[in-house]
Amino acid sequence: MSTPDQQRAELLRHIWECGPLGVAAVLRFGAELGMSAAEVDLRLAHLHTAGLIHVDQPGEHLEAWGPALDAEAAARTAYGHLSGYVACRVCGCTNNWPCDGGCWWAEDDLCTSCADPVAVEA
Ligand SMILES: [Zn+2]
Ligand SMILES: [Zn+2]
Repeated sequence: MSTPDQQRAELLRHIWECGPLGVAAVLRFGAELGMSAAEVDLRLAHLHTAGLIHVDQPGEHLEAWGPALDAEAAARTAYGHLSGYVACRVCGCTNNWPCDGGCWWAEDDLCTSCADPVAVEA
């Protein structure tokens, strides 16, 4: 059983990893997590309102959900909060969604990107 927050987290990560995704693909992924179509819609609306995902609607019947490309850090942090996994206390990255270029744990809740200023390229 996953909580609504966890479901939102996994939807977010899936869209960032695999998007842009058509509605059917998003619903299929949601169903795998035990979400009804209405629940998927609700989670998508939350993520969209938060500015973490982007929807393309080029035509009436074509709707695709993709990452909001200027919000990667925010999306990673949101995933850390919502998923309930151990997340970096500074940037919110997790094992499932590490920093750009990869990172590992310097402390229990501090990733190497944040622990070592040299590794954080401007
Ligand atoms: Zn970090
Ligand atoms: Zn990190």
